[in-house]
Amino acid sequence: MSGWFHLRPVAPDVWLVAEPSHVNSWLVAGRDRAVLVDTGLGVAPIRPAVEAVCPLPVDVVNTHAHLDHVGGNGEFARVAAFGAVERPSAAERASYLGWMREVLAAVAAYRELDARYFHLLSADSDPRPLPDDIERWVEPGPPPGPDPEPLADGDVLDLGGRTLTVLHTPGHSPDSLCLLDDRDGVLFAGDTVNTGPIYAQAPECDLPAFAASTGRLAALADDVSLVAMSHFGRGVAEPRYLHEVAVAFDRLVTGDPTVQVRAARDCDGDEVREAVFDACSVFLPAG
Ligand SMILES: [Zn+2]
Repeated sequence: MSGWFHLRPVAPDVWLVAEPSHVNSWLVAGRDRAVLVDTGLGVAPIRPAVEAVCPLPVDVVNTHAHLDHVGGNGEFARVAAFGAVERPSAAERASYLGWMREVLAAVAAYRELDARYFHLLSADSDPRPLPDDIERWVEPGPPPGPDPEPLADGDVLDLGGRTLTVLHTPGHSPDSLCLLDDRDGVLFAGDTVNTGPIYAQAPECDLPAFAASTGRLAALADDVSLVAMSHFGRGVAEPRYLHEVAVAFDRLVTGDPTVQVRAARDCDGDEVREAVFDACSVFLPAG
């Protein structure tokens, strides 16, 4: 184990670029160029990690503008996104740093139980020590990067022998997008689909839009070979999972009274309600 990032290939010319237990970015290469789907937290330089596995020119696409997806934008000349990317505030970063420290404080006990009983931890998910200069990440923070070139639903990005189709998938945020790799069927899902709690609790979240977006992804499942997600220990899922998430959101928007809901806390420490399903859960606003 060394460094902040863990990279491994998951499909032909597709790499997981994990900041284990925090966020996954994804690198996808064609013949002529590559796209880095999100740039992570920005607590350590992501570009050298990417260039170590890919010699092609790399442009960035942000799945949305949350701080854990845009932190390394300043290391790249070209960024594209569905909307504007605003620099996260120091308060937002300080809040997330508290969460990173909370995770590290919890992980020793978790590692011990996992090694004895569960065997789920891997290099994809086992959190790494924070960089020595982590306080600089809070203040002044990483450079915000170039103004994004605007994307629209249906745009096709040509990497040479491989294209990525932009799918506008609002719900988690108004600017959320997914990318579908038309050559090998990898769906880069951003925060629209995750295998831990799916975050739908923030004021900018839109549950009916979320249900429409996850329903749209489920309808594309036959064209998907692998779902590449942004968070939690399982970075990839089988296409069948798209249906399970869509059914969960459908049950929420139709007011299914049999949905189990419990109290939980999100990574900002805020109280939320968690709707629990067999395959996933969804964070909803408290109260
Ligand atoms: Zn997000």
